[in-house]
Amino acid sequence: MSLSNWKSDEKLVGRISASLRGGNVSHAYIIEGDNCVDKEAFARDFLKAVCCMESPGDGCDRCVSCRKIDHDNCEDLYYVRAEGTTTKSVKDDAITELQENLKKKPNGSRNMAIICNADTMTKRAQNRLLKTLEEPYPGTVIILLSENRENLLDTIKSRCIFYRLSGGEDTGAESLKDASKLVDALIEGEKFFTLKQILSKSVKNREDAFRMLDGLERIYRSLLLEKDPRGRLLKKEEIFMAVSLIEEARRDLIMNVNYNYALKNLVLKIGG
Ligand SMILES: [Zn+2]
Repeated sequence: MSLSNWKSDEKLVGRISASLRGGNVSHAYIIEGDNCVDKEAFARDFLKAVCCMESPGDGCDRCVSCRKIDHDNCEDLYYVRAEGTTTKSVKDDAITELQENLKKKPNGSRNMAIICNADTMTKRAQNRLLKTLEEPYPGTVIILLSENRENLLDTIKSRCIFYRLSGGEDTGAESLKDASKLVDALIEGEKFFTLKQILSKSVKNREDAFRMLDGLERIYRSLLLEKDPRGRLLKKEEIFMAVSLIEEARRDLIMNVNYNYALKNLVLKIGG
């Protein structure tokens, strides 16, 4: 979608669009937001707004440039992701590879990169990236996605334009309502069919899925603290198990497992 569709951060998007239309494209950005915000989708829409010829500063979803970015076949856009089996981090090697790629001549007007989970970059990786941020190739745009920029070196932060996505203030309450419905159904031992119905009504994309998980986790944690009377209906171990299953589902989502599958799997496991 185009940048202006991010209604949850309307004001910020307005500022970004105005700035891009004014020709102000910086070579590095930090986009921060909680894990319920689909920062990667936002970064793609941001880059569409940077490159779009039809609707500069917003993105049209129709032109070649927008479609290539949407369909992950833009030759000039490189992704860097965290790797590792136990603790995931963005490694030195991944940044070296990115630097090699950014040296190539772009097919279009510029090379671009999205560094996912940039706040997990090792110190070495950060220091390496710093060289690129200090002397960027003309036109290059690098986006660092983070949940907590405090993990980034000051020298990196000082070279990036910083945007924080709120994900909308009222979505918290809304997602809690949906999650609460699901918890009720789980406690009552409802059939999988009913659980699936609740899910399909409230979860329509990855962003919703993250919100649902955040809501579920908040509820289960409050059950544990006995702030919620429903907690009496469950054993402590059952609640702990649910919390760890929710965290597992969140890891699956971060790993790009299909969101429908991840959530259905989760309710099956909690319900079973
Ligand atoms: Zn376009």
